[in-house]
Amino acid sequence: VTFLGTGDAFSIGRRGNLALLIEAGNFHVLIESGPTIVQQLHHVNWRAIEVERLFVSHAHGDHALGFPVLLLHRLWEPPPLHVYANASTVTALNTLCDVVYPEFDSAFLNVRWHELPDEPAQTDVTPGITLRTVGVPHPPGVPTLAARWDFDAGPSLTFVTDTYPNDAALELARGSDLLIHEANFSTTLQHDVDFSRYFHSTAQQVGDLARRAGCPRLALVHLGPEGSEQPDVLAEEARAGSDLHVIVPEDGETLRLRKEEVS
Ligand SMILES: [Zn+2]
Repeated sequence: VTFLGTGDAFSIGRRGNLALLIEAGNFHVLIESGPTIVQQLHHVNWRAIEVERLFVSHAHGDHALGFPVLLLHRLWEPPPLHVYANASTVTALNTLCDVVYPEFDSAFLNVRWHELPDEPAQTDVTPGITLRTVGVPHPPGVPTLAARWDFDAGPSLTFVTDTYPNDAALELARGSDLLIHEANFSTTLQHDVDFSRYFHSTAQQVGDLARRAGCPRLALVHLGPEGSEQPDVLAEEARAGSDLHVIVPEDGETLRLRKEEVS
């Protein structure tokens, strides 16, 4: 897993908007397409035209606004780009493209849409790789999906962002080798905030969720301005004295899950 961006919607400086690249053998999937996704890919020597699969959790700008530019970089006989998202996100991505580049339609740019329901669903992505998705609590009008990739004879990863701790995410993550979860807030650094109002989580809540789901490893992403600068505080808050392996990656960092480390 390469963490292309680890910040939230207000990212400036140290951390860019949340984006990940998951690679396993010949398979890869890009997660999220925020405003600077093409540059984020470039920083790790990937070109937009090389991306074969994209998952977008929801339509908020920090997760979706770079999509038209990603497509623009795919002119000239691109290979298929498989896009996985719920109906509302698919509509938003198409609308963005229609408004800013009406001269190119997504069929011409060889986009293959995989519209996912907001109910729990399972999709065979390619032989040996399964994608499971579920809707999670989200702000009004912005349905949001959490996702899990299971690799036959390999690790499983669960990705949850822009939501507060909830049972749907807990069930999805159960037994995952790695949970990548947003920690937009910190109970240590920010007092007296009703975090759930913002449909976001604290590092403490996410550590608790990882332990309840039986996930041995947790990566904290979508960090807010306060937590961004104090990753050690976030890690300790999530660990809460347990043996949970918590990482707070920097942009550009790669985490390798080796088979022998996988439960
Ligand atoms: Zn966000």
